[in-house]
Order: sequence, then C-alpha cells, then structure tokens
Amino acid sequence: MGDPGRIETTVVDGLALANELRDAMSREIASLVAAGHRPPHLTVVLVGDDPASRSYIKGKQRACARIGADSSEYLLPESTSEKELLELLDRLNHDDAIDGILVQLPLPKQISPEAVAEAIDPAKDADALHPLNFGRLLLGNAKLVSCTPLGVMAVLDHHEIEIAGAHAVVIGRSNIVGKPVSILLQQRNATVTMCHSRTRDLADHCRSADILVAAAGNPRMVKGDWIRPGAAVMDVGVTEVEGRLVGDVDFEAALGVAGLITPSRRGIGPMTITMLLRNTLEAYRARKLGSADPSRRAGQPT
Ligand code: NAD
Repeated sequence: MGDPGRIETTVVDGLALANELRDAMSREIASLVAAGHRPPHLTVVLVGDDPASRSYIKGKQRACARIGADSSEYLLPESTSEKELLELLDRLNHDDAIDGILVQLPLPKQISPEAVAEAIDPAKDADALHPLNFGRLLLGNAKLVSCTPLGVMAVLDHHEIEIAGAHAVVIGRSNIVGKPVSILLQQRNATVTMCHSRTRDLADHCRSADILVAAAGNPRMVKGDWIRPGAAVMDVGVTEVEGRLVGDVDFEAALGVAGLITPSRRGIGPMTITMLLRNTLEAYRARKLGSADPSRRAGQPT
C-alpha cells in the first residue's frame, strides 16, 4: 500500500514535447521550401571561447539543421571591442538573408549587454531582449518573446494546467526569465507573486503557489515542504554541481507532492531551444511572408 497522502507526480518529458513542436516546424519549413521560398536562417554570435557557450551554440545550430532551417555562426575573439561587435550586428541587421540574430551571453566585460540588445534589429531579435520587444510584451502584443518563458508556458499549456485564476509564484526577476514569465502568466490571468533574492518568507510564498516557477540558479533551494500538494512546478534553474546539472527544486523531495514537475534534464532546456527556433520562424514569417502566426500572441491584457 502506498502512502494515501502521496500524489502521483507527472514528470514532464520536455524533450518529447520539444520534438513534437519541432516536427511541426519542420513540416512547415519543408512546405515553404517546396513552394520556392528559402528556409529561415538563424545566425549566432559568440564572443570569446567559453566552452559551455560554444557547446550551447552548437546545440542551437544542430536544432536548426534538424528542422531544415539554415544557421551560421560568428566566433569573435575575447578581445573584441563593443564597437566591433555593434558593427557586425549592423551588417547582420542589413543582411536580408538572415532572419534571426542571437548573441550568446555572457559577454566579456568590455561589452555592454544592454548596448548589444539595443543594437539588434527588433524584427530579428531571436532572444527577444530588445527594449521594443520587451515593451510590446508588457503591452500584451509581443511577437517575439524570450525563449525560456515561452517554453514554460508551452509546458503548462500542453499539460492543460489551469492558469486563469491560479496563484503563480515566480522565483527570480531576471530580464531573460523571471520578469517575462511573470508577465506572460499575469496576461493569462494568473495572480502572480514575483520573488527574488530580497524576498522575506520565500517558503511561505511558495506554499501558496498553484504554479511555481523556480528560476534563481540556486541548486535544490525549493524543498519538498515548500510545495503545495498538486502544484505545477516549473524548475528552470540549472547549476552544475559536482559534474551534474541540478535544478532549483529538490526533485526527489518534490515527487509525491507536486502534481507536475519539470526535471533538470529533458525539462525546460529542450523547450528553450525549441522556442528559439519558433522565434526564428516567426521573424522569418513576419519579414518574408508578411504574416506572423496569430497563435503566437503572448497574451491579452485585460
Ligand atoms: P539571474 O542570475 O540573472 O537571475 C537570478 C534571479 O534569482 C535574480 O532575480 C535573483 O534575485 C533571484 N535569486 C537568486 N537567489 C535567490 C534566492 N536565494 N532566493 C530568491 N531569489 C533568488 O539568472 P537567470 O538568467 O534568470 O537564470 C536563472 C536560472 O535559470 C539559472 O540557473 C540559469 O542557468 C537557468 N536558466 C535555464 C534555462 C534553460 O533553458 N533551462 C534558460 C535560462 C536560464
């Protein structure tokens, strides 16, 4: 006999969902090519030779190849000046054959990430970090939205988690994850609590969450007894601990308490890359075909 209070936790297979979405994109690109259009093209810029960043950009290029999209890379030395990088971005902005541009973070200290975000043409902004895309997100009419938050929303939707009226707690307020995912959840009518490094009584906030998004980069900080029974737990955090990737949630302790949880491997990670492909395809559609997919609207403010 199992513990009667124990909940059957669904562990999200982010890779399977990512593959399903990538197959659909692959079919769309094949039919565009068959109709005589060129495939979408993502270009990735890396400054410096951080091995983790190098492996991330290889993964992104492989993902492009698998769906039939083109990709290219610019590998610049660590000593590249901000001016040199901005000049390259200007050339890429004006290159009609390129639909999506991504500058891999982190950047060396002589280059301002804000200057880089502002230098990318908002219509080609695959990571959606340009202030115009951020502003549109706030207004509820964004076409390009940062990839990890879109991945979180896609997982919640795939598993039919009720968002309207739910209490969503987001740990982390970064521009790339915490802020945009909070806005998307609020636009889908969740009541959102944004928590961060100065939040008091974090555990208490978490305990009232129907949807808990952990994006702090603090391994296993969310304990089993912080989770409301049946809650949907989206563990975005990834930290390498003794050679293993560990999430922000104590996964073992969450099993039997959470209703749904994303594991640190094959969870949100593959969905993030999938949403990068989707943003590239979206940018291509808007630029080349003059029609964005209306289902990509981030949310309707009320
Ligand atoms: P970040 O460092 O920019 O932001 C972290 C946020 O967490 C900050 O707002 C901070 O206030 C908050 N925070 C940190 N420690 C906290 C604590 N003890 N209590 C409460 N809040 C705390 O990080 P980021 O870029 O937003 O990424 C967050 C995590 O998500 C990292 O582990 C990163 O590797 C991971 N990540 C994963 C993916 C993916 O595809 N799976 C994508 C992006 C980021």
